[in-house]
Amino acid sequence: MTPPAPDRPAALELEGVSHAYGPIVAVEDAGFSVRPGEILCLLGPSGCGKSTLLRVVAGLERSQEGRIRIGGRVVAAPGVHVPPEDRSVTLLFQDFALFPHLTVLQNVAFGLRRLDPGARVERAREMLGQVGMLDHADRFPHTLSGGEQQRVALARARAPRPRAMLLDEPFSSLDMRLRVQLRDRVLHVLKRTEAATVIVTHDPEEAMFMGDRIAVMREGRIVQTGTPREIYDAPATPFVAGLLGEVNRIPGRAHDGHVHTALGRICAAGFDDGAAVDVLLRPECLALRPRGASGRGAAAGRVVMSRTVGHTNVVHLSVPGADGADLHVHARTMGASAPHPDEEVDIVFDGDRAFLYPATGRGEDPGP
Ligand code: ADP
Repeated sequence: MTPPAPDRPAALELEGVSHAYGPIVAVEDAGFSVRPGEILCLLGPSGCGKSTLLRVVAGLERSQEGRIRIGGRVVAAPGVHVPPEDRSVTLLFQDFALFPHLTVLQNVAFGLRRLDPGARVERAREMLGQVGMLDHADRFPHTLSGGEQQRVALARARAPRPRAMLLDEPFSSLDMRLRVQLRDRVLHVLKRTEAATVIVTHDPEEAMFMGDRIAVMREGRIVQTGTPREIYDAPATPFVAGLLGEVNRIPGRAHDGHVHTALGRICAAGFDDGAAVDVLLRPECLALRPRGASGRGAAAGRVVMSRTVGHTNVVHLSVPGADGADLHVHARTMGASAPHPDEEVDIVFDGDRAFLYPATGRGEDPGP
């Protein structure tokens, strides 16, 4: 799969977009740009404003502040509101919204009113072929499974060659097995389009799987934008760190260019001596060794329990904390065998993979 060329002009650009429903500010000062052929995932917990932002881009909500350009043309700005049908965008919802009284082919051809009948059918058949649904062209939507309906909806959304495609939680109504299959197929289809695609999701794995880049939203604001790797490896805040995947929070204190924690010390510049620091470590960053095998500097832990989760083991550990209370941390290890309860182990980690933030006192909830 070729990544989008970085020098191509954006197909979709937002600057300073805000939207409120009466006193409820749903989106505040949102900005991003998406190049042709690029997929941006808008990721955030329920209620953070993702769907509102999508609806504003589509023109279903009139934008109240900011500027939106699609294909270089301003479609929303103070005093400007291009109606949805003239924006060259299509919006795909989780409930598919196929017309029940039209066949699959007629559904896909529906939005192609500017083409002559022959060209409409040809284009609709081409789109159905790309999502593997040509054999079902004459069927009606109610005779299709959920995944098949979603593929038809995708074909219909792409048929008019929109400059921007907006997908709102497109897989959330499907069961997990189907979701995994469908999002793979959709990813490959989307990467063949010239449209800028924005996918709304609250599922971090889906965002990392689908997105060339991810924009993380919280309480109406975009708090970080970057590639999945950048966001996973360098989250801007504890919230982003926790949203992208599980983290252990280990309290620490800065001294002499290091942060000292119950798991060991980490090199860290930029904190005043005595400052309280929250150290966040992903479970896969903790390695376990037999007790005493790791020499000085390793933390002593006791295994509380182990669980096999897919191809990894989640090991629950108890570590004596600095304040006397035990710290509970999770390690994720690979391999057929996991340590047994009550086993004593050394816990080691690479300090470069720790995320350090000034402690927030009560501790900002890193979870979604
Ligand atoms: P998300 O898609 O991230 O779940 P939404 O954009 O649906 O978030 O909602 C953002 C906020 O705006 C929420 O507080 C929600 O309750 C509110 N909201 C959404 N739609 C409306 C509406 N039509 N009228 C009033 N409030 C709304």
